[in-house]
Amino acid sequence: MEKVIIVGSGCAGLTAAIYAARANLTPLVLEGRQPGGQLSTTTLVENYPGFPDGIDGPELILNMHRQAEKFGARFSYAEVTDFDASNKHIRIKADDEWLETRAVIIASGAAARYLGLEGEKKLVGHGLTSCATCDGAFYKNVPVCVVGGGDSAAEESLFLTRFASKVYLIHRRDKLRASKIMQERVFANKKIEPIWNTVVTQYIADEKGEMRAVRLRNVKTNDERELEVACVFVAIGHEPNTKAYRGKLDIDSEGYLIPKNSVESKYPGVFIAGDVADRVYKQAVTAAGMGCAAALQAEKYLSDLEGR
Ligand code: NAP
Repeated sequence: MEKVIIVGSGCAGLTAAIYAARANLTPLVLEGRQPGGQLSTTTLVENYPGFPDGIDGPELILNMHRQAEKFGARFSYAEVTDFDASNKHIRIKADDEWLETRAVIIASGAAARYLGLEGEKKLVGHGLTSCATCDGAFYKNVPVCVVGGGDSAAEESLFLTRFASKVYLIHRRDKLRASKIMQERVFANKKIEPIWNTVVTQYIADEKGEMRAVRLRNVKTNDERELEVACVFVAIGHEPNTKAYRGKLDIDSEGYLIPKNSVESKYPGVFIAGDVADRVYKQAVTAAGMGCAAALQAEKYLSDLEGR
């Protein structure tokens, strides 16, 4: 029987792990298949307090990991596939094994969304990706495109200008959603060419199955054209990782966990934190704050249990 299991090892999960470990609860962190969460695939984080010159996302995550480990957190790469809190004990299926725990903090984060076009699955890794930091350097001196209009699309476009000959930023509206400072940087960069009011309707691969071009449609005029690009970077937001909790916890129409109260769920001992339950802010620092709150609540819950 575990005291606390933490599902996820992004900003929320690792902050929860630091607090729970420091409270001597020796939490078990189930990292899943993408350890480190979204920060591990990002570039410079400029708005995490305490780093006036910014810090690389992977470095920030590594530091949090070390900090949690230092206080006694344990880590496993197992992925949560099922969950049951309907009986006396909370049970979590990690890979093929059912684990029992007194408390759980679900901080399973969110995964990149794709466009849902034909042939998408086959093209991932062959000129289609959601991670500029991971794959950008493969596309030196060739044109690429980024799809989306938020901070991620702006950040990825700017990062890709280090490698690509040209970065087309394809957005379905005529205004970016990204923050003002990111917009200013995008518009000041000569290598980035925004393509407004436009959607990608088709991926076009070469005979080797590598991305060669995209078919575009202007949503105002319905004009269609082909654009030669060696890689498409999709940055259209994320989907919460809540598959294992469907039908068990309260989930909204977009798949986010709905807390009963702050970081508490409808089940005693089951807490939720980070992007898996945050449809509004989705910042590293808000995820860390929720992770902290969830660990403090879990600690209180466990000491109340012991006192009974
Ligand atoms: P986001 O803010 O939700 O933006 C998603 C973008 O993709 C929007 O511009 C949206 O268009 C577009 N989009 C959505 N579905 C689409 C579809 N099916 N086809 C075409 N376009 C589609 O997501 P994000 O950029 O990943 O950012 C998520 C959160 O993380 C935000 O809160 C952001 O501030 C934060 N973030 C911050 C930083 C930073 O501070 N440096 C960096 C990255 C992310 P519409 O605009 O028309 O809706």
